[in-house]
Amino acid sequence: MILWNSLSAHWRRIFGRRVQKIPLDAGSTCPNRDGTLSTRGCTFCNATGSGSGLGLAGMDIPAQWDYWRAHFMASAGTDLFVAYLQSFSNTYGPAERLARLLQTLAPLPGLAGISVGTRPDCLDERKAALLAAMPCRENWLELGVQTFNNATLQRINRGHDASASVRAIELAARAGLSVCVHLMAGLPGERPEDMLEAVRIVNDLPVQGIKFHNVYVCRNTPLAGEFLSGSFVPLSRETYVDLVVEALCLLRPDIIVHRVVADPTADELLAPEWTLTKHQTVMAIERRMRAIRKAEEAARQTRPGA
Ligand code: SF4
Repeated sequence: MILWNSLSAHWRRIFGRRVQKIPLDAGSTCPNRDGTLSTRGCTFCNATGSGSGLGLAGMDIPAQWDYWRAHFMASAGTDLFVAYLQSFSNTYGPAERLARLLQTLAPLPGLAGISVGTRPDCLDERKAALLAAMPCRENWLELGVQTFNNATLQRINRGHDASASVRAIELAARAGLSVCVHLMAGLPGERPEDMLEAVRIVNDLPVQGIKFHNVYVCRNTPLAGEFLSGSFVPLSRETYVDLVVEALCLLRPDIIVHRVVADPTADELLAPEWTLTKHQTVMAIERRMRAIRKAEEAARQTRPGA
């Protein structure tokens, strides 16, 4: 029974076997960190840019690749990998920097695809064309949209508005990239309806993938201050599961779901504690989706003419 259109199943269809993402830290930065827009960053962002931090620790891309490749060949038994440029905004800066970065990726052994994380205001036609020209079967752009609510974007110090997200999605799709939109549930001041509205907007855009994240509080961030003062309360696991299940039911069925919950490290996490047991959250979402799919199937069977 298909509960949702998962990335792992998509890759098995395309490549005939398991494909593993390798997280890479390219030493990128972000206009919301380097002073161009702000030095504070988004209120939820930790200082390592939501990545492994290996680049900051001095490992270059091939060394990081070798490290993770050996790890996943042993633990996941696969030899096909997607290079995931995760930390900070990887298309920020001159196009020449991105071109050099992509040249470093192209010869990596076992490279099946790329997945490049960035923010919507760091993409232009030239950069999108460079990404689309990578000689891989799968060229994904992972776009940190988070929400289409402009009041929230302002409140979390995002430094761009919703129209920038729509523009970036359309530009990337025109260039031939597969676009994966990141959405966050439980952002400060938002109601569940805000995320469901974001899903409806995504359904009407040229988007091929989506990641759902619950908002969690990292230590030493502005959001940690809001949490400690009581002005921000993270979602409970139950509320998050309800919301993601509703979002999955609303989502256009062809959109590939890359992730259904955030996955912080224990070191960075201040709250909520439930987010450390990702597996339990995924199982709860699966249970609910299985019941829904069963009920849909039963309704189909009893329909006249079925
Ligand atoms: S855009 Fe990304 S890297 Fe930059 S401050 Fe926000 S979350 Fe952090």
